[in-house]
Amino acid sequence: MDQLDNPLHFEPYQPKSGEEYMSPEQIEHFRMILTNLYDSIRAKMDESKNHMKEEPENFSDPVDRASQEEELSLELRAQDRERKLIRKVQESIDMLKEGDYGFCQSCGAEIGLRRLEARPTATQCIDCKTLDELKEKQLYS
Ligand SMILES: [Zn+2]
Repeated sequence: MDQLDNPLHFEPYQPKSGEEYMSPEQIEHFRMILTNLYDSIRAKMDESKNHMKEEPENFSDPVDRASQEEELSLELRAQDRERKLIRKVQESIDMLKEGDYGFCQSCGAEIGLRRLEARPTATQCIDCKTLDELKEKQLYS
């Protein structure tokens, strides 16, 4: 899981003084981050696909069978997460090409370099995100 949580080792971007937000250099910086992220998820998905292809052992013991099923369902859930994540990464790469990357989809504010480095797929500024999470909590509590 470490790979997914922190797959990237990069230097935090230091904008030059007077450099505008999402300058070509910054776009290149995030393109590199997102591409690496994409590749690392892709590699992980291939790995679990190969794992799934292995012939399941035929356990006669129901306890073994149950734990095998448990493992399978964990595996499927992980794959589902990876599929969603890789879709988000692809969307971010597309936004980067369109020039929409780095701006909040709700209010248009700059999301900020540090926040994007921590969450390269963020599409909302921290204020809108927090507000949404609050609303969601109220909805489901
Ligand atoms: Zn916002």
